[in-house]
Amino acid sequence: MPVADYKTYCTLLDRARSGRFALAAVNGTSLTTANAVLRGLAESKSDGIIQVSTGGGAFASGSSLKDMALGAISIAEHVHRAAERYPIYVALHTDHCLKDKLDKFVLPLVEETEKRRAAGRPNLFTAHMFDGSNLSLQENLEISAKLLERFAKNDLVLEIETGAVGGEEDDVVGEKSAKLYTTPEDTLEVARKLNSSGGRYLLAATFGNVHGVYKPGHVKLKPGVLKECQEVVVKTYGESARFYLVFHGGSGSTLSEIHEALDYGVVKMNVDTDMQYAFTRAIAGHMFKNYDGVLKVDGEVGNKKVYDPRSYLALAEAAMAERVKQAVSDLRSTGKTMFAS
Ligand SMILES: [Zn+2]
Repeated sequence: MPVADYKTYCTLLDRARSGRFALAAVNGTSLTTANAVLRGLAESKSDGIIQVSTGGGAFASGSSLKDMALGAISIAEHVHRAAERYPIYVALHTDHCLKDKLDKFVLPLVEETEKRRAAGRPNLFTAHMFDGSNLSLQENLEISAKLLERFAKNDLVLEIETGAVGGEEDDVVGEKSAKLYTTPEDTLEVARKLNSSGGRYLLAATFGNVHGVYKPGHVKLKPGVLKECQEVVVKTYGESARFYLVFHGGSGSTLSEIHEALDYGVVKMNVDTDMQYAFTRAIAGHMFKNYDGVLKVDGEVGNKKVYDPRSYLALAEAAMAERVKQAVSDLRSTGKTMFAS
């Protein structure tokens, strides 16, 4: 299927929320990882999301260019072409982007979409995230409202974050003193500032989440915070104000915590760290098993079959696709592609 357009993506989000499942959002940093996501989603008969981070975009553009927007465009263009051949819908997101990187990442990508639309072509990305969680709520929402206005004109979905997720992702390190739990008052303010625009947005509200990976018990996850936020916003502004929530920093969460979050309106869950491990685990296995083939030991010539990067990258792609299938299943999304219905 083609990459989900605005209308399709909105329908995917509606179906997810009412069906209490979520779309897996997996980071793509290369052709190989993007292909792994497409394969995992297709084998799960599930729709999902490929997202590109600022660091992922810089990596994909090549180590001498390190141009985060250029790399994001390259991955997105590949996904547009490849996705046509898979029997599922995939949406293209960009991941966390702090205020000081908007000019280098999100805005050039929005401009790219504007150019494409003017030429009668589909949007480049489906959605972009602005991460203002390190700012005051007021500044966070002022910037979000401005972005949302521009996004609404271009059929783009915005993702925002309130509170602060602990831990580390890409080069964003959460502060120890950070607000790990969003308050109902914060989310009411989000609705008050953003809902009049008519633009579509997703909200990553923190409930004790931690980016990166920590052993369970590092921070207490309280999905009930999400329930409270939904109840107060619906009570104040009506059912149409109910949030579409995003779960960040969920590595190491228990299945029951994930399912509870889905019950409260989480429609997208970012799953990066576990995918990175699955990918690298397969390569590590290959290297240890074939150490005398991947290395030229004692004057030998090694084994071209096992040091050809395709040999282990294919294993990594397959292993990551399997891990995507696991994530999709955890998110109750297996078999739920809209393509089949
Ligand atoms: Zn986050």
